[in-house]
Amino acid sequence: MEIEILRSHQWFKLICGASYQDLPAIRNLALIYTLAGADCIDIAPDPATIRAAREGVAVALDLDLKAISPLIMVSFNDGEDPHFRKAVFDPQLCLSDCPRPCEKVCPTTAIKFSNDYNGIMPNLCYGCGRCLPLCPVKIIHTREQVYVPEDIFDEVLNQSINAIEIHTQPHRTQEFASFWRRLSPIIPQLQLVAVSFPDCDDLREYLMSLLRAMQPQPRSLIWQTDGRPMSGDIGDGTTRAALQLGRKVLDFQLPTGFVQLAGGTNASTVPKLRQADIPVAGVAYGSYARKIVMDFLEGLEEPIPDRLEDRPDLLGQAVAIARKLVSQIKS
Ligand code: SF4
Ligand code: SF4
Repeated sequence: MEIEILRSHQWFKLICGASYQDLPAIRNLALIYTLAGADCIDIAPDPATIRAAREGVAVALDLDLKAISPLIMVSFNDGEDPHFRKAVFDPQLCLSDCPRPCEKVCPTTAIKFSNDYNGIMPNLCYGCGRCLPLCPVKIIHTREQVYVPEDIFDEVLNQSINAIEIHTQPHRTQEFASFWRRLSPIIPQLQLVAVSFPDCDDLREYLMSLLRAMQPQPRSLIWQTDGRPMSGDIGDGTTRAALQLGRKVLDFQLPTGFVQLAGGTNASTVPKLRQADIPVAGVAYGSYARKIVMDFLEGLEEPIPDRLEDRPDLLGQAVAIARKLVSQIKS
């Protein structure tokens, strides 16, 4: 089924974020985007996040018997990667009169200054890095978010997880190969594997070296072109890098794998894809897809309900917002 959708160039993936662990938000996003018709939901590989996403999907399938269960994908990295980090700082080192640009720029309101808590809420930070250069005294740092692939083997075997993504960076063939060997016991159980990468010189040679390292081979493979990572909510122009990289990788005519865009994708991506006639298999949306829904929920004149399904009016409005984005690639 999923392969047919990829073949028909209509694949929609929601990226919740490899480091994003806001469980109520993930449950809501999974619920809303399942009802909106997403084909895949990409989340952090930790058990609580997986449970929250699965719960959201299950509620959606109960509510709408025609809804189709999206694949649940978890993301890993084969080395240092901006998607796998969290920002941290010691609030005691802040300037007393600082205008707090960090707080204003954070897209997930992870940075708090209140009577109860000062600093960055780890679960809400997904490592976008926007706060880092704005601190006048440079006290914001990042720490790596480490996940152990063996920890989720049981979830793959019981089909709570259907797909895995590996984030790699240029010229890391050895690291990628060694990570693939760790995954090898579960590769045959996965419906698909995605490889996410930015642009670099000699990219075709690099991707071919990754293909040679894929033993055993995956059932299906997606090349995720990570144009401008974690930036789709900043503005229309961020999609340009994703489009360019998508076209470049399609032109490689690699022997296998679907090409899917990510990194800077937003509502302008599909119209520009169609205009430029770039026949990718699909598009993954991260910060933009989260923002349009979370802006609606956070803008309510009441707290976000714990069980959004108990408020069908609000759920319906949120699904309509999500569906507008999903329907672009489906039409
Ligand atoms: S701006 Fe980005 S990196 Fe900084 S705290 Fe917010 S989510 Fe984390
Ligand atoms: S910008 Fe730096 S000094 Fe200012 S509030 Fe944020 S972390 Fe503290």
